[in-house]
Amino acid sequence: MDNQQLRNAGLKVTGPRLKILKILEKQAPSMRHLSAEAIYEAAGKTIGLATIYRVLSQFEETGLVTRQNFEGGYAVFELNQGTHHDHLVCVKCKHVEEFRNPIITQQQKKITQQFKFTFINYNLIIYGICANCLNCENP
Ligand SMILES: [Zn+2]
Ligand SMILES: [Zn+2]
Repeated sequence: MDNQQLRNAGLKVTGPRLKILKILEKQAPSMRHLSAEAIYEAAGKTIGLATIYRVLSQFEETGLVTRQNFEGGYAVFELNQGTHHDHLVCVKCKHVEEFRNPIITQQQKKITQQFKFTFINYNLIIYGICANCLNCENP
């Protein structure tokens, strides 16, 4: 992700846009999903939250970034990988993991056929408690 990719998306290269892109792309795979607040922290609070929200919705509109909305109004942003995946969310620390499972996809397509629907897309979110939080509760 660089200046050219911002221009390709029809966006002018600005400091905050570049910085937010860099933050999103440098994350380890298990940390790819960031809330606006987490981006704010990662930027060392040098970009205002209102700007972060505005840049993220511009990124979302141009398809650079996808947004996931979870229960309780919690939302995370990730670079658009262009392929479908589903999410696990920890209800305690809000940690997000992603997974791909072809059997789940197949089953949903079967259900769709059963009801004579045309399959378009689905969004599966599993809510649970992550291993870290469980270890903290039961040391
Ligand atoms: Zn957790
Ligand atoms: Zn994801």
